[in-house]
Amino acid sequence: MDWFHCSKCFTKRGSSFAVTSCGHICCEACIISNECSVCGASCCYLTISDEMKPQEKVFFKEPLKLMQSRLEHISQIAVFQQKQMERIIIHLRHMTVELERRLKELTDKGYRQLSELRRENDVLKKHILELKKENAELKKPLSQRRVSPGHLHIDGGQRMTLPVAITSPVTPHSRTGRCVFHSF
Ligand SMILES: [Zn+2]
Ligand SMILES: [Zn+2]
Repeated sequence: MDWFHCSKCFTKRGSSFAVTSCGHICCEACIISNECSVCGASCCYLTISDEMKPQEKVFFKEPLKLMQSRLEHISQIAVFQQKQMERIIIHLRHMTVELERRLKELTDKGYRQLSELRRENDVLKKHILELKKENAELKKPLSQRRVSPGHLHIDGGQRMTLPVAITSPVTPHSRTGRCVFHSF
């Protein structure tokens, strides 16, 4: 570590160094009890060793390595999250396929029902038309009705007129009557 040295005497050699709470590094020889030998502030000393806490050790690591390490960690986090996302995407694709299948099924069913209803509607329209014709026919006066063969006239009209037609030859002026007078 090129940057590492005692902030007071600038030595790089020595087995024991300490860092102050005010941020200065001191070799063993430069340490003064309860006071920073560099800036004179009252401080406490922390011995630089492997026993330090991770958040303390990190200040003595190379930034480039720290960045690589952090990047690897960040990359692991990104891969982890991406895998979760991939599972969601696969799930959503399955759901999309299933929903499309159900939609097609319902659409086909809807078209079939529509077609059946149209056919039924056509039949009902024809039926209504027939009923309207029948209704209009029933509203006409009796004499204007269309006659079904030998129905109305036989029952009503012809029976009333027939006696007249039959009785007219049998009048006193008939041939039969005259014959009777001549022969007498
Ligand atoms: Zn020193
Ligand atoms: Zn200091």
